[in-house]
Amino acid sequence: MSKTIIKNAHVISPDVDIENATIVIEGKKIKTVTTKKVSEKGAQTVVDVKGQYVMPGFIDVHTHGALTYDFCDADEQAVFKLAEAKLQEGVTSFLPTTLTVSTEELKVAAQNAKKYAEAGMPYSKIPGIHLEGPFINVKCCGAQNPAFVRKPAISEVKEISKIYPVKMISYAPETEGGAKFAKDCIKMGVVPSCGHTGAKLSELMPAYKNGLRHMTHFCNQMTPLHHREIGMVGAGFLIEDLNTEVICDKIHLCPDMLRLVFTRRNLAHVQVITDSLRCSHCKDGYAFTMGGLEVKLENGEARLVKGGNLAGSTLWMGIGLKNVHDVTGIPLKSLVRTTSWNQAIELGLGDELGKVEKGYTADLVVLNPRSWKTSAVFVDGEQRI
Ligand SMILES: [Zn+2]
Repeated sequence: MSKTIIKNAHVISPDVDIENATIVIEGKKIKTVTTKKVSEKGAQTVVDVKGQYVMPGFIDVHTHGALTYDFCDADEQAVFKLAEAKLQEGVTSFLPTTLTVSTEELKVAAQNAKKYAEAGMPYSKIPGIHLEGPFINVKCCGAQNPAFVRKPAISEVKEISKIYPVKMISYAPETEGGAKFAKDCIKMGVVPSCGHTGAKLSELMPAYKNGLRHMTHFCNQMTPLHHREIGMVGAGFLIEDLNTEVICDKIHLCPDMLRLVFTRRNLAHVQVITDSLRCSHCKDGYAFTMGGLEVKLENGEARLVKGGNLAGSTLWMGIGLKNVHDVTGIPLKSLVRTTSWNQAIELGLGDELGKVEKGYTADLVVLNPRSWKTSAVFVDGEQRI
């Protein structure tokens, strides 16, 4: 069995902050995390990270594209490129996320995910896919194309899942059949998520009672908080166990809103996401179409040319974590669960992923504590960056 030692690590894991630590990896698993002296005998690889942060590899449950590719492109290369970009961010698992498009296009995306899995997932891993739409509220499309919006149909989810497992679906719970749809999703092992929704609190509750516990990009494309109808933003604050995704680029939510969310909500139920588009990892001025709508990247912001709606982000996971740490001052050992472990728990992988601890899979990111750039990434114990 291969043996790797990472030394001089500043380990940050949920409720753990240890400097000068040594991590011993055997095969795919973490064998030891210790501040005691460790013999390097028998180790094939010894990496001195010189005091840099070593965190659980990030898990991004909501990301569409990067490096000019989108998961919904009918292009086999798209998932490979997205996974390569994600690995560069320190993301070791992610759910490639679809847009509101036709059933045929969704099936092609799932087939491309399958091809990446069959190739052995050489970059970041994909435990499944996230369908963002098409079962959303046509009045809350944001950058999703209203022409492809349809009513919730579990049969369509089943068809796609036969090709590659669907792990999450963002849909509007107030739509016809929306409450039952939550139950049907859970039966299939899919996380139903409230998103692109115009629901009132009372319209969310039937789906919540049926098990819905996730909110897609909290605050964006959902009913705002009003003092006579608290909407979905109010629901996110009122109901503790709703797992709220947050785009932490300081654009989709202003810094004060990020502070409000991260200081008032239970951190066990907050998840940093990127919602990155094909323009992620690209330069300003890059223009493209999304579900038939034109988008342009300016000052790092991706907006629809017509109307100026935000159309997703260019955020990197590590920078999301840094942004929240900067604006809230919350210690990293408390925040780090929002970039990995919370997501792992919800995907049923909480005993394997999301911690730098004995017995956990050695999915690790090494970050420079000054620049927050990724220095190294380990996936299943193998150094891939
Ligand atoms: Zn999205």
